[in-house]
Amino acid sequence: MRVLVTGGAGFLGSHLCDFLLKRDHEVICMDNLITGNIENISHLSGHERFSFIKHDVTEYIFLPGGLDAVLHFASPASPVDYLELPIQTLKVGSLGTHKALGLAKEKGARLLLASTSEVYGDPEIHPQAEDYWGNVNPIGPRGVYDEAKRFAEAMTMAYHRYHGVETRIVRIFNTYGPRMRLNDGRVVPNFISQALSGKPITVYGDGSQTRSFCFCSDLVDGIYRLLTSDVDTPVNIGNPTEFSIMEFARKVIEITGSASEIIYKDLPEDDPKVRRPNIGKARELLGWEPKVELDEGLKKTLEYFRSRVN
Ligand code: UDP
Repeated sequence: MRVLVTGGAGFLGSHLCDFLLKRDHEVICMDNLITGNIENISHLSGHERFSFIKHDVTEYIFLPGGLDAVLHFASPASPVDYLELPIQTLKVGSLGTHKALGLAKEKGARLLLASTSEVYGDPEIHPQAEDYWGNVNPIGPRGVYDEAKRFAEAMTMAYHRYHGVETRIVRIFNTYGPRMRLNDGRVVPNFISQALSGKPITVYGDGSQTRSFCFCSDLVDGIYRLLTSDVDTPVNIGNPTEFSIMEFARKVIEITGSASEIIYKDLPEDDPKVRRPNIGKARELLGWEPKVELDEGLKKTLEYFRSRVN
């Protein structure tokens, strides 16, 4: 396949580029480098099946030649990033998705949309299955991301139904691993960099809120299975092992052997109280489930962060 990865220089996008190249596909990576980082793909420079185009996908995408698939991963993804970049986040989810779908239609390519567990908002149903419509505050600070992704799903289904474009939608739950930005503000990079530098670990609220963390290699495997499947309705991909943020803070302290203390800060507005994927659909239709335990994934992530902190 000849595949375009938008957001290909980001954390997940760059792992997808690696995965596709290993499976002998040709990869065109597109990124405007606002939250993506060229270092994430620098090891691919000179690869005969890899190319990079610096481009903002909210602008018309011109791409010569044939194309088999578009993986639309461009977007700020950390709450801190999308609070700082609210308009860009809304634009990339709406206009960017429209451009990516337009390109897929023109080329007769399949499009896979990177959606999110944020479409469930602060969920009233737990764990979250794909048939839950969610509980999102459209005018809250997180709304810029949540609603952009909800709009992106609606636009994707419209192109599928009206134009017959082959589409796939993955709802990605919290994912971690090497190449997350140290300062992206999410809980994994925050806690690890705080632990490694001996600074206090900042737990927001009382730490009773829960998240379920998936290692990036598991996620990319699930996404590839979805891309190559015939499932055209949304599929959750994430790890269903749930931790409170307090448990997670203790785990990071244990694994790093850090002497950091835990301190408390205000809980951000609309912070979901619980989150855990129901992965029954992925298990049944894709034969997928995560394999990497938190301890193992954290150790791999730690190696990367150690090299960056140093
Ligand atoms: N969080 C925290 N301390 C931090 C960063 C995040 O306690 O330094 C909490 C945050 O309030 C949320 C959870 O960790 O409850 C996960 O936050 P993250 O920003 O990673 O992503 P989210 O799952 O909220 O999109």
